[in-house]
Amino acid sequence: MIYPWADEKPYYTYSTYFKRLFGRRIQKLSIDAGFTCPNRDGTKGIGGCYYCNNDAFNPSYCRPDKSITQQITDGIAFHSWRYRRVTRYLAYFQAFSNTYGSLSYLKRVYAEALSHPEVIGLVISTRPDCLPDETLDYLSELSKKNYIQVEIGIESCYDETLRKLNRGHSFAETVKALETLSRRRIPSGGHLIFGLPGETLDMMLNEAQIISQLPLTSIKLHQLQIIKGTAWAAEYSLHPDNFKLFERNEYADFVIRFIERLRPDMVVERLSAEAPPLMVVAPNWGLERADAFQQDIQKKMISLQTYQGKYFKFNEK
Ligand code: SF4
Repeated sequence: MIYPWADEKPYYTYSTYFKRLFGRRIQKLSIDAGFTCPNRDGTKGIGGCYYCNNDAFNPSYCRPDKSITQQITDGIAFHSWRYRRVTRYLAYFQAFSNTYGSLSYLKRVYAEALSHPEVIGLVISTRPDCLPDETLDYLSELSKKNYIQVEIGIESCYDETLRKLNRGHSFAETVKALETLSRRRIPSGGHLIFGLPGETLDMMLNEAQIISQLPLTSIKLHQLQIIKGTAWAAEYSLHPDNFKLFERNEYADFVIRFIERLRPDMVVERLSAEAPPLMVVAPNWGLERADAFQQDIQKKMISLQTYQGKYFKFNEK
């Protein structure tokens, strides 16, 4: 079966999105440009979000003591054994909040990344409350000649949950940031975490409907993992029953139901979190890689004859 996103996969994958946009495979290269985060430096909070440990997802080639150019060169070498035919890259400003700095610093690091001959754009991960007008003006300017995507940590659509995570912003701020990016025609991305304290299955499934009404280009889905060195790792060691973490197969069933409710033209970039196993306190899903999990979900969806958007409905305004 060929779906609206013009291939046989049962949901609209990130690789399909880039093949449609650029006619080729594109690889993201993580960059750590030495940013911090207002939820760590005291501006919004200290200690950060209770689940956050940036070391859990920074690849080894990506370190702030190296120049941006060096990180790109090392990233290309790192990925070359696996993606031999990839010749174009997006610099992924991943660690902490990558618009949280002076405009002159942002210009310097973004320009250095874009000056690499194989880099055709940027993906910039940040918080919804870190997008002042002057930064947005600059990103709009850059997006006239380069692919620029801004990725927002949504995490949950519920303010009560956001307070429990110590996020230091509301869901309304996320909506405002996504609407502003959309008005400026800058593609956006979002993260959601499932299994957060206090959220029921119905609440989590309802988030598919909520985010589908937003001008969001792509979404990453993650199961909650308790990561070493975080505030929640300390709490988990004392009170594990305070957390209801997804088992692997239970999450697989959930993710399929979530995708069925998602707007058909929203790109699904990830289906699961993948911190290094030694960093994960719980849940223990063994050594299955996110790619293998994704392939299993695709097979299951095909055998169930289901697909993205099967149960999606536009909200009448
Ligand atoms: S998850 Fe993002 S916003 Fe929260 S503390 Fe970590 S870097 Fe800051």
